[in-house]
Amino acid sequence: MGNFSYKNGALHAEGVNLTALAERHGTPAYVYSRAAIEANWRAYADACAGRDALVCYSVKANGNLAILNLLARLGSGFDIVSGGELERVIAAGGEPGKVVFSGTGKRADEMARALEAGIHCFNVESEAELLRLDEIAGQMSLTAPVSIRVNPDIDPDTHPYIATGLRGNKFGVDHEEALEIYRLADRLGHITATGIDCHIGSQITSTGPYVDAVKKLLALLGHLEKTGISVSHIDIGGGLGISYRDETAPDAAGFAGVISDLVPARYGIILEPGRSIVGNAGVLLTRVEYLKANREKHFAVVDASMNDLLRPSLYQAWHDIIPVSERADGAQAEYDVVGPICETGDFLGLGRSLSLGPDDLLAVMCAGAYGFSMSSNYNARPRAVELLVDGERGHVIRERETVGQLMAGEKILPA
Ligand SMILES: *Cc1c(COP(=O)(O)O)cnc(C)c1O
Repeated sequence: MGNFSYKNGALHAEGVNLTALAERHGTPAYVYSRAAIEANWRAYADACAGRDALVCYSVKANGNLAILNLLARLGSGFDIVSGGELERVIAAGGEPGKVVFSGTGKRADEMARALEAGIHCFNVESEAELLRLDEIAGQMSLTAPVSIRVNPDIDPDTHPYIATGLRGNKFGVDHEEALEIYRLADRLGHITATGIDCHIGSQITSTGPYVDAVKKLLALLGHLEKTGISVSHIDIGGGLGISYRDETAPDAAGFAGVISDLVPARYGIILEPGRSIVGNAGVLLTRVEYLKANREKHFAVVDASMNDLLRPSLYQAWHDIIPVSERADGAQAEYDVVGPICETGDFLGLGRSLSLGPDDLLAVMCAGAYGFSMSSNYNARPRAVELLVDGERGHVIRERETVGQLMAGEKILPA
C-alpha cells in the first residue's frame, strides 16, 4: 500500500491528507490513488514488452469512468462482461478494438452492439452461445472473432465462490468438448476463431495453477492444429491475487514473465487483470458513529456497511482496518467493526484491536476492487462518493448518490 501512508500520524493518499478529504466530502467515501493504479497496470505491460500482448483491464473490478479513462490513456484494453460495461468503456474513451467480451449469458442485443462497435474478441462460453453469435453476425453481414473459453478443470486454491475453472463451475466448456466446438466454429459462416481462453478464478496467490492451465490450453491447440484449425492468441484471464492480510501474491511482473516464457512467440497473449490493478489502489473511509459494548463484545458501529463493501459479508474476506489519525494514547480493545444495516452478517471486520473514540475516522484498506462495483442500495442507502487522488489533489469522480436518485424511477398506482 505504498501510496497510502502516515505522515506525522495522519494517513495520506499520495500527497492528500485523508482527514481533510473526509471532512470536505463526507463518509463513507472511496478514495483511489492514480499513481497506484497506473503503476499496477504498467507492471503488466512492461513485463510483456517486446511481445504481441494486450492487457485488458477487467471492468467489473471497478468501472468508474475516470479509472477506465486513466487506463485507456495508457493504452489498456478492457475485459467486459456486459453491454453496460461496453458502454462504460466507450464513454471513457477506451478503444472497442481492444475489448474482449467474457460472460456466460450474453444477450442478443449485447452481441449486436459489440459487433457494431468492432470489439477484439468474444470469449464464448457454450455451443448455444456460438450459434446465437453466428446468427446475429450473419444478420449484420459481419464475422465475429471468437475464442472459446475452456474450463481446464484446475483448482486455483481460492474461495469457492471465486474459483471458476473447475469442472463443476458454470464457466466455459470442458476441455474435452472444446475441440468439437472449434470444429463447429470452423464450419459456421460468420464466426472466425482467433483465440483460446480461460479464466480460472480470482484472488489466486501462486503461479502454479496458471502454469497448469496454460499447458492444458497449449496441448489443446496442438490437437486443433493437427486438424487444420489454428488461432493467433491465448487469453489467460485474470485472477492474480493481492495481499489483503498476510498472503504473498506473485507480483504482476513475475507472473506475466512466467506466462510469457510458457507461451510460444507465435501466439499473442491477452491478460485480464482486475483486482491486481485497482485492489490495493483504493481505501474506504468510514467514521465511527457509536461505540457500544455488551457483556461479550465491543462494537464500533461505523457509517459504512455491507451495501458499500460486500466482500467481508459475502466471502468472509479480510480487509485491514486502520485509524486515519494515529492516537497517542494507545489503549486498545477488540472491536467488531459493523455497519448500520439490519443483518447480523453486516460487518467490515471482526475482533479487530483498535484504539477508538467516537467520531474517529477509519480506513478499510485494499478496497479498490469489487468494493464500489459490488455496492448496492440495500436499506435505501445512497452509494458512497468516489474520489481519485492525483498528487496533491483529490477529485470527485462520482458524486455521492442522493435518496432522490434512488426513488427517481419508482411510481405509485393511480388513486
Ligand atoms: C472477473 C474476471 C476477471 C478479473 O478477475 P480479477 O480476479 O479481478 O483479476 C478476468 N476475466 C474474467 C472472465 C472475469 O470474469
